[in-house]
Amino acid sequence: MALGDVDRKRAEAQSLIDAVPRVLASRSRNSREAQATLEACQAKLKGFRTHLKTLELDLADREDALSKANGNLLNAKTNQEYSLLVAEIARKREEKGAVEERILEQYEVIKQGEQMVTDAEAGLEAAKSEYGGFEERARTELAGHQKELEALDERRDQIRRSIEAEILKIYDRVYKAHGEAIVPCEGSTCQGCFSTLTPNDRNRLLSGRQLVFCKACQRILYMPEVVHASPS
Ligand SMILES: [Zn+2]
Repeated sequence: MALGDVDRKRAEAQSLIDAVPRVLASRSRNSREAQATLEACQAKLKGFRTHLKTLELDLADREDALSKANGNLLNAKTNQEYSLLVAEIARKREEKGAVEERILEQYEVIKQGEQMVTDAEAGLEAAKSEYGGFEERARTELAGHQKELEALDERRDQIRRSIEAEILKIYDRVYKAHGEAIVPCEGSTCQGCFSTLTPNDRNRLLSGRQLVFCKACQRILYMPEVVHASPS
């Protein structure tokens, strides 16, 4: 029974140890998502800036064209030519003004994009530091469980040395099959598989002197009332 107890605790410690990487992976998802958000915001901002460059090039072209038109004005030979040029210059000025306005608007868009990136950076920082704190706690817990497992292993070796080889063989076989080798018998019922014991097996169990196996599931049985009456 001591062996069954220590093996149950070992399985618990082992399952806690196994859970740590899974829990960490699910927690790190937040950081990865924040990283993806930041990258998306950075890409958007880059697009906004590229668009600004395009607008600025367009403005430069229009300024060139405008100064050329102004130069032509000095060389106008007729009144008609002159007034056509004046009208063309007015139109070019207007178009240039529209581009300047779009550039100002684009500055605003970029400002918003920069704010988005700043926010995303803060979000990533927060997710990382939250994960860092969690990871540290998880690693501490993990070390605790591992230490516990080592102590249980030692205790298990001690217990096994005190048990006959033949019985250990049976125990190990049943443990491998069911994950638990020793179960109580309540009334006449095996609590491992809920089948009923024969009156003979029940009497042998009650005597507390022999190993009794469930005929259905092969688990080793004990009577709680017998064990509690004579702890050994
Ligand atoms: Zn059974």
